[in-house]
Amino acid sequence: MLPLLHMGETMTDDWRVENAQHLSGSVMVLRTWTEQVPGWDHSHCVACDGKISDNGSDDREGYTTGEIAPGQRDLQWVCAECFHELADALHWVERQ
Ligand SMILES: [Zn+2]
Repeated sequence: MLPLLHMGETMTDDWRVENAQHLSGSVMVLRTWTEQVPGWDHSHCVACDGKISDNGSDDREGYTTGEIAPGQRDLQWVCAECFHELADALHWVERQ
């Protein structure tokens, strides 16, 4: 029989780190969400998939690399909670 899975914090962090792996080592800038692509009224945190937008109870700001990557239409967003919790694991540096 398989051991019971405990949904602890380590596990939570693991999947978020995996989701945001492509941003590892990035310099990130905190900014207020604004519409980047006409008609796209929200963005998702690349780590936890949480919504970042200017409406409802969504996060109003998040961290981005500051530029839209080739082949992408929107900025890559990371919510503040993920940024602070995963910064060590993903070697994120906040640009002041
Ligand atoms: Zn997040």
